[in-house]
Amino acid sequence: MNIILLGAPGAGKGTQAAYLVNKFAIPHISTGDIFRSNIKQRTEIGLIAKSYIDKGQLCPDDVTVKIVELRLANEDCKKGFLLDGFPRTVPQAEALSKITDIDYVIDIEIPFERLLHRLTGRRVCAKCGASYHVDFLNGKTTCDCGEELIHRDDDTEETVSKRINVYTQQTQPLIDYYRERGKLISVNGDQAVEAVFEEIVQKLGK
Ligand code: ADP
Ligand code: AMP
Repeated sequence: MNIILLGAPGAGKGTQAAYLVNKFAIPHISTGDIFRSNIKQRTEIGLIAKSYIDKGQLCPDDVTVKIVELRLANEDCKKGFLLDGFPRTVPQAEALSKITDIDYVIDIEIPFERLLHRLTGRRVCAKCGASYHVDFLNGKTTCDCGEELIHRDDDTEETVSKRINVYTQQTQPLIDYYRERGKLISVNGDQAVEAVFEEIVQKLGK
């Protein structure tokens, strides 16, 4: 099963991805995680990506498509995959359609007024990518995998509002793009994590 998770920054894509890859035993491919890993390793891609990520802008389509194309060529993607945060522009979606077929696009819907609190309170594991919120951490500072949790540099109030604008202008058109192609499944992201997951599974019919 080849799945795309769509939704605004903070909609809950990473959170639902963890549940979905566990249920369907497919790899989780997050372009954000790939960029952050490149930044950490100070690669050429990382250097390019950092300049965009710090400003809340999208990385260039050609660089982003290339890293996804390389990742999808891996053996583990033969049984299916979950794309999280890709595509984010219509040109990326068009490029993806030339690389592989997609079965479902799950759009996690969320009122924008929820996003600032979700993202400024988000804590992530730089090692395994798990996502938490300070509201539920009870003072805990480590991930279930044992690694320290961090506050992402782009999860500040200033950058979040830029990222929401970028989402509205460049990513939201993908909702119609995939609806027109009969791939879109919309779920309500403004409910408990487990309830969002149940709605996804029920709408996938799996
Ligand atoms: P995305 O990958 O779409 O940017 P995340 O999955 O990282 O979003 O979630 C953003 C923040 O919102 C995290 O702090 C996460 O713990 C929290 N979160 C995710 N889903 C829910 C939910 N259904 N209800 C409340 N908080 C949530
Ligand atoms: P995310 O972890 O999905 O919130 O992504 C963090 C940042 O990485 C985004 O704000 C972009 O700067 C960059 N990024 C991630 N995915 C893409 C993509 N598909 N296209 C362009 N930039 C991306």
